[in-house]
Amino acid sequence: MEKIKIAIQKSGRLSEKSLELLGECGIKVANGNRKLKTEAKNFPMEILFLRDDDIPQYVEQGVADIGILGENEVWEKEKNVDIIEKLGFGTCRLSLAISKDEEYSGLAYFNGKRIATSYPKILKKFFSEKGINVKIEEIGGSVEIATGIGLADGIFDIVSTGSTLIMNGLKEVDTILKSEAVMIANQQLSSAKTQLLNELLFRIKSYKNGLGRKYILLNAPNEAIPDIIKLLPGMRSPSILPLADEGWSSVHSVLNEDDFWEKIDALKNLGAEGILVIPIEKMIV
Ligand code: ATP
Ligand code: ZN
Repeated sequence: MEKIKIAIQKSGRLSEKSLELLGECGIKVANGNRKLKTEAKNFPMEILFLRDDDIPQYVEQGVADIGILGENEVWEKEKNVDIIEKLGFGTCRLSLAISKDEEYSGLAYFNGKRIATSYPKILKKFFSEKGINVKIEEIGGSVEIATGIGLADGIFDIVSTGSTLIMNGLKEVDTILKSEAVMIANQQLSSAKTQLLNELLFRIKSYKNGLGRKYILLNAPNEAIPDIIKLLPGMRSPSILPLADEGWSSVHSVLNEDDFWEKIDALKNLGAEGILVIPIEKMIV
């Protein structure tokens, strides 16, 4: 049977989460990431552990069929691969930063300035589209020290909390790209591999649908049911089951974590009792 080959980061910020996502899809990967290559136990899948920078090229060439990496790397590498799904982890932004003592007047500030970055292609494209002339200093890492040592007037780098910038006397002045981990795919997958990919995507979506959602069960007097239904739309609509206790029903539905407490309060006010809230592992819609 044909196997689908997936490339994930060998060691770094996305490694654990990538394996975790496969685990949530019911795919067991033996051996952790010590080896270059391993096989899933219960899914026709081979897992390649690579540096994230190399993943776009391997996927373009078909050495790997699919891969998980930051969108930032996908844009920077400019390989012919398709982004097929955002995965909801590894979120960060690519921003411009300058010394905190400098006054910032908008993007035009950078006209004629030197900017240090590990993402020269993204940066070059951005400024040439704006018609602003900058000099790009490409460096491999520790970009945040470039202004302090006089290599550049500003930097363009990944920011997540901003604390690294502050530690280096910098301030973030503009965000150019928002990024998260994505699934990419080779553009000429065989039909057998496309089928495996679709199975994997189906599982990923079911897992993502369950995130941030809770299953809720409660008992309520029958007169309150119409108002409760308005509060709890559920997947299609809530299930209502009569209780042995006459005049009462049990209501089952799905809730969003975001408006969770607000709804619980409203439900209590409507006379709901015995409210149970249960995590959802997967949700097939
Ligand atoms: P590799 O050895 O695989 O080349 P790396 O040093 O390039 O690793 P990591 O630092 O592990 O990469 O980051 C991998 C990805 O994680 C980034 O490309 C980015 O998409 C994402 N990311 C999320 N938050 C951050 C952050 N605070 N700093 C750096 N990367 C982040
Ligand atoms: Zn890298």
